[in-house]
Amino acid sequence: MQRGFKSYAEDLAVQVRKEMGIPAYGRLCAFGLANFLGVPTLGFSKLVQAAKNFGVTAKQVQALEKEVHGLCIPLGTGRAILYNDNNPSARQQSDVAHEASHILLRHPLADIVSGAVGMRSKELEDEAAHLGGTLLLPLPAALHVLQRRMSMDAAAMEYGISTEMVTYRCNVSGARQIQSRQRRA
Ligand SMILES: [Zn+2]
Repeated sequence: MQRGFKSYAEDLAVQVRKEMGIPAYGRLCAFGLANFLGVPTLGFSKLVQAAKNFGVTAKQVQALEKEVHGLCIPLGTGRAILYNDNNPSARQQSDVAHEASHILLRHPLADIVSGAVGMRSKELEDEAAHLGGTLLLPLPAALHVLQRRMSMDAAAMEYGISTEMVTYRCNVSGARQIQSRQRRA
């Protein structure tokens, strides 16, 4: 990731919340974000009947769902997001936020298609992964969690994301460091 990307992601996450009318520490739904960006989302389950008509077996669909959790596709002049709606809800939030991040960052589709390799696509994946998490729990939200002494599980419920994501974001955003500095002061 380029130097400065993390603070850029933090700013973007707060800016997006502002435009959506959500406080900086508030909960953001990834589907609401996609909707706000004008990006339609479609769950894999909606594709199953079409896949059957196409001769795709249930086993092949299962194999695909194991591999693929979300992807961006071109739609008209814009994009759409396909996501695995068999996954737990917290996982769907993270997958859709990841795909929405590719769109927010204007990553070219050719560089982010599954199987794309090379340094550039690795960098784009890292950026989308980082921004996706930041969108779901930016620094002000992570601080809010720690200052209110919420458990990681309770915060996960409140933000609709996984406990692992809350823990990870509290650390990587610097919120935990800021909080312990404030406690000492
Ligand atoms: Zn990606």
